[in-house]
Amino acid sequence: MTRNGIHHVTAIAGNARRNLDFYTRTLGLRLVKKTVNFDDPGAYHFYYGDTGGSPGTILTFFPWEHAAPGRAGVGELQETVFRIPQGAIGYWTQRLVNQGVERTTRFGETVLRFRDPDGLRLALVGLPGIEAEPAWDHGEVPAEHAIRGFHSVSLMLEDAAPTGAILSDIFGFAEAAREGDTLRFQVPGTALGGIVDLRAVGGFLPARLGRGSVHHLAFRAADDAAEMEMVRRLAENHGLHSTEQKDRDYFRSVYFREPGHVLFEIATDVPGFAVDEPAERLGSALMLPRFLEGHRAAIEAALPDLS
Ligand code: ZN
Repeated sequence: MTRNGIHHVTAIAGNARRNLDFYTRTLGLRLVKKTVNFDDPGAYHFYYGDTGGSPGTILTFFPWEHAAPGRAGVGELQETVFRIPQGAIGYWTQRLVNQGVERTTRFGETVLRFRDPDGLRLALVGLPGIEAEPAWDHGEVPAEHAIRGFHSVSLMLEDAAPTGAILSDIFGFAEAAREGDTLRFQVPGTALGGIVDLRAVGGFLPARLGRGSVHHLAFRAADDAAEMEMVRRLAENHGLHSTEQKDRDYFRSVYFREPGHVLFEIATDVPGFAVDEPAERLGSALMLPRFLEGHRAAIEAALPDLS
């Protein structure tokens, strides 16, 4: 079975405690994994998602206390959009008033735009008929209003066509609609994370990575074989070369820079977040990859205080 769409989005935060509060309390997401940045174990890596940490629901952060603010521009993921039930629009408009929430309409749908405490651009889209989908409701947000995974992301690009070709040829998307300067690509039949909007805004300054900006966008591959097939097609059809595969414990990944300069990752659906702690206790303890377990005491002592 082919599984396509967004796997996760990874962004840069400042203060770790503030990030944890905002995503688990204000937005009501589940912390599905508390680990460290495998390439920089002095920093946390937080994963937020639905109850099981399903692909298509996962927003992750590297909180770096002293990271300089990012600058919006071309060649980056501009906005991450979550799904909420249509009837929850009023609830979220009130709840996000301190985040400067703005209501707008896109492609005929009601959208609430706001920012997280580090300035990361987020939005909620109200959708009919999704109230009955399961939701994580162990926080302050009742199930009837809770976020149900990703709706879409938008990329800000100099030119949409080269990136669109990668979405179509490698990741199973098809051009679905256009509104103004935004071209919508969609995976047919995929509810979670099945949309990528490309905003072509030639002439803007390039983005500068930092606090409040997105580090990379990961797409799903069902397993290693599907991932390697995507790698092969990227090289053969587009002359794009990926990194070697990296074991991220909860998925296995390759990375490449797409033609519009956004860092793309391909991440396997397997093995998932219950590989090293029970599903009912996801996110409750600091989990470390095996190669860092021997340094646990030093790592725990160096990580920022979350209390
Ligand atoms: Zn990633």
